[in-house]
Amino acid sequence: MIRNYIKNTSILALTCLQLSCNKEQLTEQPTEQDQNIKGNEFCLTDKINNESTERKIDPWVEYDYNPTKIYPKSVRKIGLIFNILETAKTKKITDAQVQKQVDILNQNFKGEDPEIPFNLPLPFIRFGMSEPSGISFFVKKINRKTTRIKVWDANGNDYKLGDGIMGGNGNFYLNIWILDAISDPSLDDDEEITGFAINPGVDNSSSKSDFGVVTTREIFFYEKESHITYKTHNRSKTLTHEVGHCLGLYHMTGVDSKFNEVNCGDDKVSDTPTQAYFHYDYLKYPYFDNCHGQNFNQMFMNYMDYTPHDVRCFFTNGQINRMRYFFQKGKYNSELGTKK
Ligand SMILES: [Zn+2]
Repeated sequence: MIRNYIKNTSILALTCLQLSCNKEQLTEQPTEQDQNIKGNEFCLTDKINNESTERKIDPWVEYDYNPTKIYPKSVRKIGLIFNILETAKTKKITDAQVQKQVDILNQNFKGEDPEIPFNLPLPFIRFGMSEPSGISFFVKKINRKTTRIKVWDANGNDYKLGDGIMGGNGNFYLNIWILDAISDPSLDDDEEITGFAINPGVDNSSSKSDFGVVTTREIFFYEKESHITYKTHNRSKTLTHEVGHCLGLYHMTGVDSKFNEVNCGDDKVSDTPTQAYFHYDYLKYPYFDNCHGQNFNQMFMNYMDYTPHDVRCFFTNGQINRMRYFFQKGKYNSELGTKK
């Protein structure tokens, strides 16, 4: 099973979580119309990294990782290589849209998400309160290619070969493939696949040309530009989630000892709660999942969950700490972000 989540039958309004909250949109009940047109953001990272026959997480890649150990800060300016594949009829993604997306990514990794004052409950500690992460991003290159392919199979490598664009060196840069649409025959028709990311340890080729994110052009449509099915995922935070995977993060539901996605699994982060399901809707804090007979206060506003973009707003200290582990000398991302 790659899908372990519940869909709430009713959408609850997210109430103000801090006294300073006066933002109108979060106190509004999403309308019946919103509910009908909302699509689920759906990330295939677990499936692609561990169920795919072509790719497997190398279990040795993090053999000495210890979530309770504090890893030193490492300043990384990570160059992003955008590989944009568009059909002749596709409305072009502009360079300005790419830059805007990277600006939002930087804002998120800096711990300066504008939603923080409204959505972050006091018990949860976000990253960036005392120091910046040291992780930032810039546009290294934008490659473009016109192709006849509109829908790409998530299980193949076509986006890299033939009609696709071969990725740049993943030792130093992150590849971001932008496709018109992604399909997976094993999923229900109503799924909206937002993409997937390659986890550390999966591409062990010398140039790691597979390393990065494969996503769709939908991520660029901000606010009113949003595609209707992504009405609640319209603040360009999908790439933050996917890049989080490349830097070492799992979904909040975690994985088992063989890196398979499970309910109530281990996300290998010390300060995130155990989580039973992906959360998709507006939830009222506090909200609890039950795992192993115990209730856990859910951190549904974390970037690695699936809630709407106006809810998700932070990484924890533990999540940034895990990213720092992979930046250590000899680790998978040791050279990432060290070249201009
Ligand atoms: Zn994901």
